[in-house]
Amino acid sequence: MYADVITLFPEMVDFPLSQSITGRARKEKYLKLSFVNPRDFTEDRHRTVDDRPYGGGTGMLMKAEPVFRALEKVRKKTSYVILLTPKGQTFNQETALKLAKKKRLVFICGHYEGIDERITPLADMQLSIGDYVLTGGEPAAVVVIDAVTRLIPGVLKKEDATVNETFTDGLMEAPQYTRPAVWRGQSVPDALLSGNHKKIEEWRRNMSEELTSKAAKVSAEKKADREPEKKKKTVLKHRRKAV
Ligand code: SAM
Repeated sequence: MYADVITLFPEMVDFPLSQSITGRARKEKYLKLSFVNPRDFTEDRHRTVDDRPYGGGTGMLMKAEPVFRALEKVRKKTSYVILLTPKGQTFNQETALKLAKKKRLVFICGHYEGIDERITPLADMQLSIGDYVLTGGEPAAVVVIDAVTRLIPGVLKKEDATVNETFTDGLMEAPQYTRPAVWRGQSVPDALLSGNHKKIEEWRRNMSEELTSKAAKVSAEKKADREPEKKKKTVLKHRRKAV
């Protein structure tokens, strides 16, 4: 897979993805990562990539033209363009699986207060890695490329390594243990030591279901807790509009 990253700070993406499994995937050419810097597509003496937002407001925005020209430089017919933004759809394993099937991905990393809105329609997908705001899209690009790379066939040496993982089949993975069988008074569950494959599978399935339903309950409770706050905010917003 090819991944082109449009970024003002290529090292923020290059270094983390040079380590461990993604680093090996790059060496073995499963992942061909390249970088393009919008600053190289400026024409003024100061190589300006940002400017003040129209209508006022804090911070600076990345200008559209250098980002557009960087995109034009790398975009091919088969490219799938992803704009990293906290406003995008939340990244998950399903999206990672979908992206792992693409031949060529392009990631646009914003910085400062983001990018001129007129870049948005050029993207095939707007992606967020979670409900929080980062200083730039670079850590988000690392997260997405890491999750996608390990799904490329051949990257993980054991073919089925991603099959029973958390999220792959909608269930969380069962707890895992390695030697010693007793560690600081805590024993590995008997089923895993039994050598009986049927029993092991059954135990794993039960644990997966139990963990998944516990997690679903916690997240439903959190959502319910947030509801009154959300209602209060909406009321405030309407009141502000009415004033
Ligand atoms: N002013 C923007 C807003 O409120 O939506 C936030 C801009 S943020 C400081 C700068 C850049 O970081 C964004 O353009 C985006 O590329 C990236 N970014 C920040 N949070 C992100 C997230 N949760 N997921 C993906 N990218 C994010």
